[in-house]
Amino acid sequence: APTKQTRIGLAGLAVMGQNLALNIAEKGFSISVYNRTTSKVDETVERAKQEGDLSVFGFHDPESFINSIQKPRVVIMLVKAGAPVDQTIRTLSAYLEKGDCIIDGGNEWYENTERREKAMAELGFLYLGMGVSGGEEGARNGPSLMPGGSFEAYKNIEDILLKVAAQVPDSGPCVTYIGKGGSGNFVKMVHNGIEYGDMQLIAEAYDVLKSVGKLSNEELRAVFSEWNKGELLSFLIEITADIFGIKDDKGDGYLVDKVLDKTGMKGTGKWTVQQAADLSVAAPTIASSLDSRFLSGLKEERVEASKVFKSIGFGELLTDQALDKEKLIDDVRQALYASKICSYAQGMNLIRAKSIEKGWDLKLGELARIWKGGCIIRAVFLDRIKKAYDRNHDLANLLVDPEFAKEIIDRQSAWRRVVCLAINSGISTPGMSTSLAYFDSYRRERLPANLVQAQRDYFGAHTYERTDMEGSFHTEWFKTA
Ligand code: NAP
Repeated sequence: APTKQTRIGLAGLAVMGQNLALNIAEKGFSISVYNRTTSKVDETVERAKQEGDLSVFGFHDPESFINSIQKPRVVIMLVKAGAPVDQTIRTLSAYLEKGDCIIDGGNEWYENTERREKAMAELGFLYLGMGVSGGEEGARNGPSLMPGGSFEAYKNIEDILLKVAAQVPDSGPCVTYIGKGGSGNFVKMVHNGIEYGDMQLIAEAYDVLKSVGKLSNEELRAVFSEWNKGELLSFLIEITADIFGIKDDKGDGYLVDKVLDKTGMKGTGKWTVQQAADLSVAAPTIASSLDSRFLSGLKEERVEASKVFKSIGFGELLTDQALDKEKLIDDVRQALYASKICSYAQGMNLIRAKSIEKGWDLKLGELARIWKGGCIIRAVFLDRIKKAYDRNHDLANLLVDPEFAKEIIDRQSAWRRVVCLAINSGISTPGMSTSLAYFDSYRRERLPANLVQAQRDYFGAHTYERTDMEGSFHTEWFKTA
């Protein structure tokens, strides 16, 4: 047991909790730890000893755990989202006192956080829902933190969070008070949706280069390593390059070629798309990444379908265009970058729409800043997003920021070439194609929506507006047809 009370407590010692506890202790804050299954407590304390005799104190029962923490107490929970969080709150709150604070660091649905914050406030407790990104490595060495909820609670532990978060030269620690209520969880959720989009776009770039360009894994590794020196520099591009270099430890060849093409998911991407629909925000790039995961899950059906359509083939150019490999690689890089701009534009607009609905007053540029380090989507690209919002706080869409607009104009020919090539080769690039369609729709002064309105008025008397006069009109189209 500690000789005096610890600064903070952490309950839930799976991958994330254990690593975050060690990180907090390493930054000089003594920490009490607790887990339902007590063997994880001992394991964590043992690891803390091995990693430099860190001040981590383990407890096997919730009462002595809570009593070991200095008041007002702060306890971070890192347990499975949903019912386990409610159970953990019940267990801990039995020993808490007014003014104490619980922080949920899991990927929780934002409305659950709002419900709990209210219930806790009635008991005199403070509550934060804090998105934590960066996986195991981030939790241990510096994650991106997205705390939302009680500002008073945030202030109580700001000193800890500022040190524990990833540190990015010239942009500071990757943490900021996000806003009220469930805003921290919401922002983390959209972050994950954007992550789905990034991963899908990278997978499509891989598919075009491999299936059409016939690049080997070694060539792919070299290409992604090269890309990681420029505008695409990011954690996901870096690990992608690494993956192409890893040999199979259970057989011949490369491991990536043995991995089953069926994607798992835990729900934050789906929530992002559902929220986009609820808020009427177009987020087709993120939605296409979710759809792609669903389609990937139909492995057996796809195997059957591939037999039905065997005669069409894929990956071979269905036109007689000659293929210049170097040019293809450069085109794909540009298509990936341009698509990424669209994906982030969608994610940011979704956050803004929610912020307006809930009165959260979220600062989009600040979000881009705290995503620059620690998290899975960390990238130099985020700096450009931050600057775009610094230039214009009310920017309607990242696409029309002067810098991004110029980047897109410079890349659009390459982008179209890649999408056409993929279509002509029978390779699906839903993320890149739908990003391009998003761009082409958004930049269009007049869309064919006039016809949809006319149809709606024709069959349902839904009325329409006119381009040349004010008011709402209805025509009995069938009488004049
Ligand atoms: P996890 O697998 O999501 O959850 C395991 C932890 O939850 C264990 O400590 C477990 O305790 C506890 N738990 C489960 N049911 C419980 C219950 N009914 N009552 C009390 N405790 C219960 O762990 P994780 O991967 O470390 O993730 C923790 C949170 O962070 C999740 O919300 C996750 O979505 C989020 N997150 C994870 C990552 C990642 O890379 N893994 C990244 C960002 C965010 P026992 O040991 O007793 O079973």
